[in-house]
Amino acid sequence: MKLASRMSRLGTETAFEALARARALEAEGRSIIHLGIGEPDFDTPEHIRDAAKGALDGGFTHYTPSPGIMEVREAIARHQSERQGYDVERERIVVTPGGKPVMFFTILALAEEGDEVIYPNPGFPIYESMIRFAGATPVPWPLREENDFAADVGELRDLVSARTKLIIVNSPNNPCGSVIPEDGLRQIAEIANETDAVVLSDEIYKDFYFEGEHISITRFPGMRERTVILDGLSKSYAMTGWRVGYGVFPEPLVEPVSRLMTNSVSCTAGFSQIATVAALESSQEPTRAMVAEFRQRRDVIVGGLNALPGVRCRVPKGAFYTFPSIAGTGLSSQEFEHRMLADAGVSLLSGTAFGAGGEGYVRISFANSVANIEEALRRMERVLAG
Ligand code: PLP
Repeated sequence: MKLASRMSRLGTETAFEALARARALEAEGRSIIHLGIGEPDFDTPEHIRDAAKGALDGGFTHYTPSPGIMEVREAIARHQSERQGYDVERERIVVTPGGKPVMFFTILALAEEGDEVIYPNPGFPIYESMIRFAGATPVPWPLREENDFAADVGELRDLVSARTKLIIVNSPNNPCGSVIPEDGLRQIAEIANETDAVVLSDEIYKDFYFEGEHISITRFPGMRERTVILDGLSKSYAMTGWRVGYGVFPEPLVEPVSRLMTNSVSCTAGFSQIATVAALESSQEPTRAMVAEFRQRRDVIVGGLNALPGVRCRVPKGAFYTFPSIAGTGLSSQEFEHRMLADAGVSLLSGTAFGAGGEGYVRISFANSVANIEEALRRMERVLAG
């Protein structure tokens, strides 16, 4: 069957393939420690599950309006207003099945042939995939280890052009765990205003800070009108499988994105939407406890990785990923990933899964218990020392 040529431009997220390989080995009886997955290993808190059960029994089993149930958009707007420190209107919210469609729809709605889209590299792989799929030109914005993997504003000045349509920022960042400091965000905002670029601010890890607090680029002058905030419940409430996320869109994008929803998935599942209200409007203690646990794990894993021969790891400030350099082992990133899975039974991801800038690095998630992280470190050491 001959596929449409656009399909050759669509990439993928190899994390899903790596997980399938790891699960296949487990099915053969191998012991595998999963450090490849980008999802909290916690259960969704009980009160959120109860809200969804109540919603199912209460009849939220039908289509909803494409941009979401108005009460849910309202609850999200209240949450965003509180977190961002300014008034977010409910009409700006579009509820989506997970945060990912916000990328998909924003890029499809804005970028086309002749446009350039600047995106972090290493970065979430779907950015580059979607930019190419939309026919636009991806312009990688390197995140460098020597800069603590924070996006360098000086480099952004060299990358913008009259064709820059969209600038993607992601803080805290997947895969590096880096954050963009306030001053960096301010300067990125200035550049976006000067070049009339739209910003896609991926804030899905906004609750996962180990130092400092989240600041959105929308705090700076002129940015609310030109920024799409991507957020969702997947990470903050351990709800990856529920598929509920949302975008806060500039007014001119709300209708086009809602139309993209109608044309693709119609709406987000009603009971997941109702559970969203429970998640956002009840105690945030489960999220705080989860982040505190991640902080402890971070310290264990960073210390352990730095003790491995040929490995060098910076301390991530947010999210739940480390992005150590493995260049000193003499292995390529892919070889390291395959060796660790085959010989150590440790599943992790090659840095190249996050773009060409990831060569020489691997992504290790610490969404696993301290005991499992310690065992993984012992196994990795045996393989590297042998
Ligand atoms: N943005 C980033 C940076 C992510 O790492 C992820 C998930 O891994 C997403 C967005 C998408 O999250 P969701 O599962 O809600 O679609």
